[in-house]
Amino acid sequence: MAVNPDITISASHLDAALAEMKALNIPTSPANIRVWYDFCEGENRDIVVAITELKSNKIPFDADLCYELYHRFYGELPAERLEQFKIALAEMVAELGIQLGDIADGSTDCTDALAAAEQALADGCELEALKTITAQLVAESRKVIEHNQQMGDIVKSMQTQMSSLQVNLEKASTEALTDKLTGVSNRRAYDRKLDSILANRKEGDEVCLLMMDIDHFKKFNDTHGHLMGDKVLRFVAQMILKVIKGDDFLARTGGEEFQLVLENCGLEDGIKIAEKIREVIGASKLTKGKDRTPVGSVTLSIGVAQIGLEERRNDLINRVDGYLYDAKSQGRNRVVSEEAATA
Ligand code: GH3
Ligand code: MG
Ligand code: MG
Repeated sequence: MAVNPDITISASHLDAALAEMKALNIPTSPANIRVWYDFCEGENRDIVVAITELKSNKIPFDADLCYELYHRFYGELPAERLEQFKIALAEMVAELGIQLGDIADGSTDCTDALAAAEQALADGCELEALKTITAQLVAESRKVIEHNQQMGDIVKSMQTQMSSLQVNLEKASTEALTDKLTGVSNRRAYDRKLDSILANRKEGDEVCLLMMDIDHFKKFNDTHGHLMGDKVLRFVAQMILKVIKGDDFLARTGGEEFQLVLENCGLEDGIKIAEKIREVIGASKLTKGKDRTPVGSVTLSIGVAQIGLEERRNDLINRVDGYLYDAKSQGRNRVVSEEAATA
């Protein structure tokens, strides 16, 4: 989707796309809008050919077909593209909102002005002929006003549609950064967070990174089933969230691996938080089913590192991964970190 820098051109593609979608009863999801925007823009020949053929054969664009079309041409929507898409559309919506809002208000002003003119003409004219002409003029201008009012209504309904589009895009963008199973951030969000912290760190900043991995989780799944395993993953995420503060950043970065970024947190405090998380999870008594059959507990091994001022991303990850590995090889259910003195 090449959003044209000239907003009026992009807006006309978007307008055409929304009109097509409305006529064909296609929901205005971000994915569908992308397909129909590109179709209306016309540069992606494959989309144009495919949709033209479907339309000429009067194939209904039901949910399955829309899904299939989107995935045929774009596959998964990568977060970066989604973000660009969102920003471009948000700008477009804001700009159109101003322009179209002006038109809508303008038509009301125009109505007032013409009503005043009508009154003045009726009061001040003495000549019969002039009266007739002016009455005709007023009737004509009334038609224009009515037309403008209709335009205003269309524009307002378009604004409503675009607001809901903005909400949908916001939702899609959040979903692209959230782990579906546990509701915490996903790896993509974590990568961004870490990149931003590394890029902006300055002397004196204290940031800790915790890498946490559930112990013997394969065995747990094998014994109690994958669904129970999924529940445990959700439970672990919730328990960690209870221990940490609002601005601490938790992500599920692998199957049964979580990472936590603690800003404004020295190594000693980072270790304390890791110990707290380890204790809380290890002490939990898990149950299964309505009759609450006990299924024991799970434990976590945790590596903790304080991010060095000049440390490169790979070195940091290898270091914290090494501490986690040590925690596993020393018997699991433990926290391993660099020594506070060497931080
Ligand atoms: P270790 O203590 O060395 O970490 O052992 P482990 O069994 O936890 O580690 P291993 O890497 O051998 O196995 C990880 C298991 O995690 C494999 C898989 O059954 C489970 N797992 C990964 N992702 C998911 C998931 O999304 N849901 C469920 N239920 N299990 C998962
Ligand atoms: Mg594990
Ligand atoms: Mg693992």
